[in-house]
Amino acid sequence: MSHDSSVSLAGAPATYRGRFAPSPTGPLHFGSLVAAVGSYLDARAHGGQWLLRIEDIDAPRTMAGASDAILRTLAGFGFEWDGEVLVQSRRLDLYHAALVRLQLDGEVYPCACSRREIVAASSSRSVDGGLLYPGTCRAGLAAGKAARAWRLRLPDQELRFVDRIQGEVRQNLQREVGDVVLLRADGQYAYQLAVVVDDAAQGVNAVVRGVDLLDSTARQIWLQRRLGLPTPSYAHLPVVVNAVGEKLSKQTQAPAVASSGGSALLARALRFLGQPLPAEMHGAPLAEFWRWAIANWSMARVPALRAVFPGDVA
Ligand code: GLU
Repeated sequence: MSHDSSVSLAGAPATYRGRFAPSPTGPLHFGSLVAAVGSYLDARAHGGQWLLRIEDIDAPRTMAGASDAILRTLAGFGFEWDGEVLVQSRRLDLYHAALVRLQLDGEVYPCACSRREIVAASSSRSVDGGLLYPGTCRAGLAAGKAARAWRLRLPDQELRFVDRIQGEVRQNLQREVGDVVLLRADGQYAYQLAVVVDDAAQGVNAVVRGVDLLDSTARQIWLQRRLGLPTPSYAHLPVVVNAVGEKLSKQTQAPAVASSGGSALLARALRFLGQPLPAEMHGAPLAEFWRWAIANWSMARVPALRAVFPGDVA
């Protein structure tokens, strides 16, 4: 087995616990299949567990039936997950409890700014591509203003971590991220809060996911520290982009993958992750394919890149 034995599972027990956490905004597409394959193989190659979590925290973006469709597709490809599937929409009390703790500790503050006011007051962009929150409500709400959202107070401080694929990442939280919303004006908890609460609740100590989330990691580590939670190791896989460089997603109309694609489609995901497949594995039965893929998985071969893939893989 040629897996990367140098991975450090900070403060974690010996058992590797990884996860795949799709958002059910549409059916599984090739980009999410790649993240599923990478996280699954890394977990199994370490003799670890692989947990599933449905991230349906953003109710307006959730599509009816998508979560069942994703689970069916994963099962059809022969993925075997450990334990119950965790569903975020049933866990709002836990996110509430985490927010209350942050409120009591003064780590979050109420914000009254409307989108229009932020546009008028902000002069720079955050790493997310949106406007950097200028901190208007940090010192307290102006008289007569009502709270709309709760924001995390991020320090003017550089946070550094080492990603297993992308290497060292440094980010100044206040200047590059800005105080992010944890409870939105529409009453929805933000992904950033839910993901931190749930990774800890599931005992996840190794996160393997798409590089589009690399820029979210520093704030998640900050939040873990504020909540007294352990920090997992991180590995950010290249994401699949279409011919014009957009990440495959529901927004870019990525075609759904079907498990009838079998090991041939899994093999494409594997090649995308830099794992060379021997000729005799082409068209292999799923069980044989997975045995080979687990035994030969090497995180060291995964390219630290984004990559172009034409969106014609359905
Ligand atoms: N739910 C996120 C997505 O589908 C993934 C979150 C994560 O892996 O941390 O993009």
